[in-house]
Amino acid sequence: MSSMIEVKKLKKIFDDKVAVDNISFSIEKNTFTVLLGPSGCGKTTILRMIAGLENPTDGDILIDGKSVISLEPSKREISMVFQSYALFPHMSVEENIVFGLKIRKTNDKQIEEKLHYVANLLGLNTLLDKKPSQLSGGQKQRVALARSFVSEHKICLMDEPLSNLDAKLRQEMRIEIKELQKRLKLSVLYVTHDQVEAMSMADKIILLNNGKIEQEGKPKDLYENVTSTFVGRFIGIPPMNIIKFENKEDIEGLLKKVGIVISNDYLDRVTYVGIRPEDLFLDSKSSLKGTVLFSDYHGCDTILGIDLQMLSHKDPFLIKVKTVDNIKVGSEVGVSWETKKIKLFDKNTKIIM
Ligand code: ATP
Repeated sequence: MSSMIEVKKLKKIFDDKVAVDNISFSIEKNTFTVLLGPSGCGKTTILRMIAGLENPTDGDILIDGKSVISLEPSKREISMVFQSYALFPHMSVEENIVFGLKIRKTNDKQIEEKLHYVANLLGLNTLLDKKPSQLSGGQKQRVALARSFVSEHKICLMDEPLSNLDAKLRQEMRIEIKELQKRLKLSVLYVTHDQVEAMSMADKIILLNNGKIEQEGKPKDLYENVTSTFVGRFIGIPPMNIIKFENKEDIEGLLKKVGIVISNDYLDRVTYVGIRPEDLFLDSKSSLKGTVLFSDYHGCDTILGIDLQMLSHKDPFLIKVKTVDNIKVGSEVGVSWETKKIKLFDKNTKIIM
C-alpha cells in the first residue's frame, strides 16, 4: 500500500504552548484513519496543518509523495467536513453543494451530473430546494458531506463531524460514512475524542496524548495490546482497572490470590497492574474478596464497583457482569480474573507484559 499522506516530525507551538510535538505518521490510500485523544491533545491542529489552514512550526507534510508545506489550502486537493457543518444559511441545499464547483468554473452539465450523483448517494434528492434552517442536524451533516464528496478530491479531512447529532443518528451516520469512504475510495483522516467512533470506523487509530502519539494501530491492537496505562484507560468502556502498587509484596500477594506467578525480574519492575472490567468475574471460591459499592445497570450488562479490601486502591474496582438480580450493594463478593488478560506496567506507566 502506498501512502497518501505522510506527516514528518510535525511540530506546532502556539506562543509557548507545544500543541503538536514532533509527530510522524502516514495514511495509506483508500483507508480510514482516526486521530483520537482527549480534548486539547492536538488533533484539530494536526488536521488544520494538513489542510493548510495553520502553518507548522517545524516538520513536513507530503501528499502523494510531494511536500505541500508551501501550497495554499485550495491547491492541496483536500476536502474538509467540520463539526459545525459550515453551510451558507442564505443558500439552498443545492447551492450549498455546488458552490465550490461554481467557484472553480466547472461547466453546467458536469455540475448537474455531480449534484445528482451525490444527492442520490446521500438521500438528498427531495431536499435540494430547502434552506439549511429547514433541515434536521443529520440532514445538515449530509449536505456538508455531499459538498465535500462532490469535489471528488481523494483526501477528506473530517473534524468531529457527528458530535452535534443524537446517539441513534450518530450510529447510522458512522455506518454511512464508512460505506461512502469505501465506495468513493477516499483516504479519510477523521478527528474525534469518541473512542466508540474510532473503534467502529477506523482501519487505523492514532491515539494522541498531550501532542504526542501514545499508540498507533488497528482498533483491535489498541484494545488488546495496550502499550501504556493511558491507552488502557482511554480505550474500552468502562476503562481498564489500573492499580498502583507501592511495594513488591503487595503485588505478589495480589497475583498469588488470582493464581499468577511471575519471575522476580518482572516483579521488580512492576508498578501498575491493569485488568479490563470484562476480564473479571464473580467467583465465590476466590480468596480475593470485596464489597459491592455500586451497581450500574446497563440492560444486558451491569457494571459493579467493588472495594477490594486488600488493596489500598482508592478507585472502585470495576467489573462487567451479565445482569443478575441477586447482587446487592453492600454485599461481599469474590473476584477472579482471566489470568492471560492481566497487564503489567512499569513506573513510567509503559507496558512490561
Ligand atoms: P478538542 O478535542 O478540544 O478540539 P484538540 O485535541 O483538537 O482538542 P487542539 O484544538 O489541536 O486540540 O489544541 C491543542 C492545544 O493547542 C490546546 O492546548 C489548545 O489550547 C492550543 N491551541 C489551539 N489553537 C490555538 C491558537 N490558535 N492559539 C493558541 N493556542 C491554541
